[in-house]
Amino acid sequence: MDELAALRHNLDAIRARIDAACRAAGRDPGEVRLLPVSKTVDEARLRQAHAIGIREFGENKVQEAMGKWEAMADLPDLRWVLIGHLQTNKAKYAARFASEFQALDSLRVAEALDAQLQKQGRALDVLVQVNTSGEATKFGLVPEEVSGFVRQLPAFASLRVRGLMTLALFSDDEARVRPCFVRLRELRERLRQEAPEGIAMDELSMGMSGDFELAIAEGATTVRVGTAIFGSRATPDSAYWPGFAGSGAGTP
Ligand SMILES: *Cc1c(COP(=O)(O)O)cnc(C)c1O
Repeated sequence: MDELAALRHNLDAIRARIDAACRAAGRDPGEVRLLPVSKTVDEARLRQAHAIGIREFGENKVQEAMGKWEAMADLPDLRWVLIGHLQTNKAKYAARFASEFQALDSLRVAEALDAQLQKQGRALDVLVQVNTSGEATKFGLVPEEVSGFVRQLPAFASLRVRGLMTLALFSDDEARVRPCFVRLRELRERLRQEAPEGIAMDELSMGMSGDFELAIAEGATTVRVGTAIFGSRATPDSAYWPGFAGSGAGTP
C-alpha cells in the first residue's frame, strides 16, 4: 500500500470503530467528532490527509501548529485545534490562527487569549481542561475548581466556551480509565444546570487512540486520535505531557 492508501485505510478503520462503539452505546455516530491529532506529523502527510478529506488537525504545541499553519496557508479550509497546555506568553500566537483551544486551565490564559483575540478581531472555541485522573503531573483544573472557574468566563467575550476536555489515566486497565471519563461526564451534567448565560456545556473531548471506544461509551462528543491514524511517533510523549511515564504508543 502506498502512503496515501495506508492513511485512508487507517482513517476508514477508525471511523468504523467509532461507528461500532456508537452503535454499542445506543448513540448516533453523527454525535461523535473525530479530531485527527497531527503532532510530529510532517507537512507532506498533512497534505495527504487533506487530500482524503481531513479538514481539522489537533496539535499539542502552539509553535509546531503555527509553523504548519503558515506552511499550509494555501489550504484555507483547514481548522487548527490546539489541545495542549498554553503558556500566557504564547497566547498571541494561538490567537492568530487557532479555531479552537481545548486546554484552557487558568484565568491568566483566558485573559491573555481574550486580549489578543480582541486585537485581531477573532473569536475562539474553547474547552476547559479537567484533571480527572488525580495525577499531580497532569495539566487541567481539579474537578472541584471547574464550577467557580466557568462562572468567570463570560468576562472574556472572544472565548466561546463549548464544554470540557480531559486526558484519562494512561493504563490498559479499563477499570481505572473509565472512572476518568465518568467523572468528566458527571461534571458536565452538573455544570449544565448552573452554567452562566452564553456558556455552553455540550462538548466532552475525551478518548485517544488507546481508549476512544471506552470514552464513546461514556459520552464523548470528540475523540482525539493520533497514532491510530498517522502511525507511531518518534518523539516520546513525555515531550508533550510532563511526567508521562506510561506505556502508550510513542513511548520509546
Ligand atoms: C497526542 C495527543 C492525543 C492523541 O494521542 P494518540 O495516543 O496518538 O491518539 C490526544 N490528546 C492530546 C492532548 C494529545 O497531546
